[in-house]
Amino acid sequence: MGEVAVDSGKPVVDLLIINGQTFTASLDGLDPVYVAVVGDRVTYCGQARPDVHARRTVDVRGGVVLPGLISAHTHVAQAFGTGIFDDLHLTQWLVTLRRSYSTLTDEQVYAASLLGALESIRSGVTFINDMATAGQRYDVVAQAIADSGIRAHVGSAFLDRQEGDSPVPASSTDAVLDEMRDFHERWDGAGSGRIRAAITPVGLPSCSEALMRGAVELAADLDAPLHTHCSEEKEATAEAVERFGESEVSVLDRLGVLGPRTTAAHCVWVDDTDIGALARSGTLVAHCPSTNLKITDGIAPVELMRQAGVKLALGTDGAASSGGYDLLQEARLASMLAKGATMDSRALPNDAIWGMLAGSAQHFGNADRDGSPGLYEGMLADIAVIAYPRLHLVDERRFLSNLVFSATAADVGWVLIGGQMLVEDGCLTQYDEIEAMERVRRAMASLAPLTTKET
Ligand SMILES: [Zn+2]
Repeated sequence: MGEVAVDSGKPVVDLLIINGQTFTASLDGLDPVYVAVVGDRVTYCGQARPDVHARRTVDVRGGVVLPGLISAHTHVAQAFGTGIFDDLHLTQWLVTLRRSYSTLTDEQVYAASLLGALESIRSGVTFINDMATAGQRYDVVAQAIADSGIRAHVGSAFLDRQEGDSPVPASSTDAVLDEMRDFHERWDGAGSGRIRAAITPVGLPSCSEALMRGAVELAADLDAPLHTHCSEEKEATAEAVERFGESEVSVLDRLGVLGPRTTAAHCVWVDDTDIGALARSGTLVAHCPSTNLKITDGIAPVELMRQAGVKLALGTDGAASSGGYDLLQEARLASMLAKGATMDSRALPNDAIWGMLAGSAQHFGNADRDGSPGLYEGMLADIAVIAYPRLHLVDERRFLSNLVFSATAADVGWVLIGGQMLVEDGCLTQYDEIEAMERVRRAMASLAPLTTKET
């Protein structure tokens, strides 16, 4: 296993997880599992306890050991749940959000972003694909994400075009492209390599064609992933047809935005041709059902996309539009919504949901193998352990169903990211939860009153 031998003659590992269980290969039950970690990698996983000297042994008491969950589209800076974003349609919501966040201080943005990242970790998420929505304070957001201990792709909602009633962008296209390049230089590889910078034009409604082209060139030049919003709102999607004579997906395809390293968030208003382009290009679609319902984006045709072979993942989006960062709640809603919307009880079966929860590690460059997610030797030690059994999680023959329909963040017992234990026995280890919450409360207390009305 490559560990250093000590006097006992046994190989040494940094961490050994004992008394765990994990999915059988066919996902229809649970097998015992022991997991050994050296540095940031899993060096052993198997049913037999390895004969090693462990620097640290963690007894998960029957907990279900899973590869870490992946939230493929987030805005952790939106963790201030002020309630002012309720009952708004996307366009009003966006104006309110941009106005509110332009008044925040660095401390407020940092406290909110840290809270969002910690909430993600606490819910078993080990990787987030984040886009900062805090105006020019994107470095503050990236710093909070790096400090949280999570693995992430980071970027900011870069734009150069006025959308609806939003303020006129202050920067020219070239200046925005320079900002993206500078951001990448500052953040790519930060946090001992946990943080990678993505190229993140916010979305076609707020971006010129020149910015999108420039972003594609920049991503190729820097070998960076792309992340954008796509076809989220009915009106904006229709506007793209007016503006370009073709659909939003078609424009992104023509400009080279779509591709195997691109994440397109939402994709609600897509037709068969669009779905074909998303599948053919290998674009990952981040499905965010809570946001899609709360701010009345609509219902994404996820089952059609799945059947067409589109790569799919789940995202919590930002708390201002979804209510929080618990990815397991998104899994439950995604399944229910797909079945209800199609009136087909077989839509988005549990194994598809499991793939959407944890299967995009390779897309984000964190795994060297694709397919149904599972534990394997050599994988990054990004792991979530669901405490088991619980009152609502008792059937080990159908644990996947339990996970999809019954589990929440409150059931996550242990979280390991890059070999670091960040949640133990249901509590954060590197941050005092009460202190983190108090910091946010203090930051909120000095917050100028947020309002949906023009001030
Ligand atoms: Zn978003």
